[in-house]
Amino acid sequence: MNPSKFRRAYPSASEPAQSSSDAIWLLPNARDSFLLVRDGEQWMPPKGSRPHGSTKPAHLLGYLDDVPCYGLEVDEIEPKSIPGEARFFGLRELYGLVPDEYYAVAGYAAQIMAWQRASRFCPSCGSIWLQNDGEWGKHCDVCQHGAYPPVSPCVIGLVHHGDRILMTHKAGWGPRYGLVAGFVEPGETLEHCLMREVREETGVLIQNPHYVASQPWPFPHQLMCGFFAEFAGGHIQVDGKELDDAKWFTAKDVRTGNPTIPPPLSIARQLIDSWLALQP
Ligand SMILES: [Zn+2]
Repeated sequence: MNPSKFRRAYPSASEPAQSSSDAIWLLPNARDSFLLVRDGEQWMPPKGSRPHGSTKPAHLLGYLDDVPCYGLEVDEIEPKSIPGEARFFGLRELYGLVPDEYYAVAGYAAQIMAWQRASRFCPSCGSIWLQNDGEWGKHCDVCQHGAYPPVSPCVIGLVHHGDRILMTHKAGWGPRYGLVAGFVEPGETLEHCLMREVREETGVLIQNPHYVASQPWPFPHQLMCGFFAEFAGGHIQVDGKELDDAKWFTAKDVRTGNPTIPPPLSIARQLIDSWLALQP
C-alpha cells in the first residue's frame, strides 16, 4: 500500500480502537470473502458507523486518505444487516471490482484478521498469547516466545532467451501458462532461490538475475519478488509433479494469446507485460 495514501495503525492499550461515523469497513468472513455494498455502478466496502450484527472486536487497520479503516469479521448471514444491496466477494474477485487502493487495504485486512484468528495461543507452550502494545506482534508471558504477522518471501522469475521466455504449466490450469515461482528457503538469497527454483522446476540454468519489482500477495501472506533472468544453459525437463509442462514462447505467441497468460492483478503478468514492451 502506498504510504502516501494509507497510514497504518497498530493496537494500542492507551488508545483503544474506536468506531467512527465516517469509517470504511472491511468485513471478511472466515474464508476471506468480503462483504461489499452496491454504490451506484460500483461495489465498495460499507462506509459509516459500525455495522450491526457481529459481536467480534473491530481492528483499526489504518487511515486511507485520513479516513479510518476497520477490519471486522462477519458471518455469512450478515448481508441482511447491511442496508441496500450487499453480497460477499472473494478477495481475488475484488481486484478490478473496487478501486486499487481498496483492494490493497482488503488484502492487508485479510492478513491481519487471519493473524488475529490464528494467534490466540502461544505455539511453543500453549499459553494465551498477549497483544504487544503499539504493534501487531504477540508474546507469551510464560515462555517468552513471540511472533509477528507472517510474511513469506517468494521469488518469481521471467527467464528470457533471445526473443523467447520460459513459461510453466500446472495440471488444471487449462490453456494458461505462468512463470517459475517458489518460496524462499532458510539460508537463501532471493537470487539463489530463483536459480534453484528454475533449475528444480524446469531443468534450465539461469544467470544475471536482476530484481524488477515486488508485490504483496495475500493468498495467504506472500511477498512476491519479481526478477528478470537470462537463460544460461540446460534443457527443459519437468518433474511431472509440481509442473506438467514448461515451454519457450515468443513475444508473438504471447501477444496472440497462445498461451493464455496470468491475469492483470499478478506480478507475473506485470513482468510479462514489461518484457513485451521491450520486444519489437
Ligand atoms: Zn509460551
